[in-house]
Amino acid sequence: MAAWTIILINESLTIITGEENMGEFESVKLQVLNACRALVTSGYLIATGGNVSVRAMEQAAFAITPSNFDYMQMSLTDICVLDYDLNLLEGAHKPSMESGMHAGIYQARADVNAVVHTHQVYASALALINVPIPALFDEQVLFLGRSVDIIPYAPSGTNSLVDNVVRASRNHHNAYIIQNHGALCFGPDMRRAIHNTQVLDKCSLAYLLALCTGRETSTIPVEIQEMMFARLREDQKKLEMDGGNA
Ligand SMILES: [Zn+2]
Repeated sequence: MAAWTIILINESLTIITGEENMGEFESVKLQVLNACRALVTSGYLIATGGNVSVRAMEQAAFAITPSNFDYMQMSLTDICVLDYDLNLLEGAHKPSMESGMHAGIYQARADVNAVVHTHQVYASALALINVPIPALFDEQVLFLGRSVDIIPYAPSGTNSLVDNVVRASRNHHNAYIIQNHGALCFGPDMRRAIHNTQVLDKCSLAYLLALCTGRETSTIPVEIQEMMFARLREDQKKLEMDGGNA
């Protein structure tokens, strides 16, 4: 039995930690569960939309949210664990219909260990007008990449969507907008994937507001873009060299 510690952060957000006697996949399942609670509380995950996963290091597997499940009713045993061929290793429920997308990302990107897919509103608005976000802010390029590109639409849960996502992800960016669908953020860990989700939200809203003025929007200088992106790539390359499980 794991020794769980329940920490009540506030009335709606409970973080569970369990360091002792963790099962093979308990740690990554816990990270998924805690991320969902934080993302629901902050409004990025809405109703049963979106999905969240964490790579199980050295296992060629990942923990992911179950399909069509109320995030606030979710417990550790409800989280699914899949290998990259989408075989169910743990979990009693049907895994997220976007599991193939997550598996594709982990195989294509050795630097990515956590994936957050949301239907967050401001990025979704850009998904409707099919407008990518250029390099607006220093921290945007440092954490998300040189731009937030639009991944072409394909129906949810299809191989076409997986192909579109994997193809787009090869530019080493950490945030994308899926056309007529929502947002997709990566991180070397879940803490950074959530952080990137927040940065994307801020950039999406700021850009939408700027577009609404009808005035021309300015971007940061190209040499600063290159400098910031080089720093991001430096961190990613360390993980790519350590990788080997992608
Ligand atoms: Zn979705």
